[in-house]
Amino acid sequence: MLKKTVSILLSALILFSCFSLAASAKENKPYGFGDYDHVFIIGVDGAGAAFSQTETPCFDSIFADGAVRHNCATERITISAQNWGSILLGVPCDTHGLTNDICKYDERNTKDDSLGSIFRYTREQYPDAELVSFNNWSAINKGIIENDIGVKKINKDYDSLLTDTIVDYINAGNEPTLMFVQLDDVDHAAHTYGGFSDNYYQAIRTADGYIGRIYNALAENGLMENGLFIVVSDHGETNDGHGGNTVEESTAVVAVKGKSVNNMTLPEGTRNRDVAAIALHALGIEKPVHMFATVPYGLFGEEKGTDLSPAEPEENEDVCGYCGVIHSGFFDVIRGFFHKIALFFTQLFR
Ligand SMILES: [Zn+2]
Ligand SMILES: [Zn+2]
Repeated sequence: MLKKTVSILLSALILFSCFSLAASAKENKPYGFGDYDHVFIIGVDGAGAAFSQTETPCFDSIFADGAVRHNCATERITISAQNWGSILLGVPCDTHGLTNDICKYDERNTKDDSLGSIFRYTREQYPDAELVSFNNWSAINKGIIENDIGVKKINKDYDSLLTDTIVDYINAGNEPTLMFVQLDDVDHAAHTYGGFSDNYYQAIRTADGYIGRIYNALAENGLMENGLFIVVSDHGETNDGHGGNTVEESTAVVAVKGKSVNNMTLPEGTRNRDVAAIALHALGIEKPVHMFATVPYGLFGEEKGTDLSPAEPEENEDVCGYCGVIHSGFFDVIRGFFHKIALFFTQLFR
């Protein structure tokens, strides 16, 4: 009798541990984690929400079954280095401290730095991975992406030339694990003709064509079967360029397409820097603890095509309107106080 009871107890125990193992395995691998062999990020400098404001047939057809939000939040300093820095490092701009001048003139060589780019974390997990970054504005390659981790860096002064180079690179059989592209002609058009000008919207339509060419090359070479394709912008534009806090400047598109991406509008509160978390998640890389970027709720799901009706993010009044983080601790609260003053003056002198 005792023997029988012990054996029943034992089998129950084994069964229980099997269940809990299975449960924890599921917990350890959230939806979409490690589902992809490739992540392609196409950055369009200065595009803001403009992909929703003119005819963009390539964007529309690529993301018809994807997850899109046109008015995601940018960093509060709506300048390129601040935002590309945050998109590639996954932290707020006042955490990384990068500026256009730093990126243009200081070569980044920081594989041991406390803040890494998504390229560095990809390199750490996949030592032999092909990593490539194509820039029109070469300051990203020089000053944001590490220079000592074997990322191929290619700079071209025109988006058309850059796109030709990318398409040739893909057609040559290269299979990058992580590829970043920065198109810059849209921002040029805004600085030259204004962000509400016809020339600006023409530049958006032209960029749409480049996105289509890059996407088609990837698809034709079979790289989209296990590839995640993202379009993101750093900031938007006004007729005086960018750098302020208007709605136009401080909104950015995030659009994601991939086999396990839900067809949805990304939740309110999605930020352009969340692209860092999305990329790492897709490649099965644990996000470093310091990274603020998060995978938007419901982006990846069990069933493709299911809208998971993302939860409304709670308004949190503690979040600093200047840098987007919650200040805590004595010195950090003081810093938050200065941010309030800075925000007040930025709004006053706009
Ligand atoms: Zn920019
Ligand atoms: Zn600009």
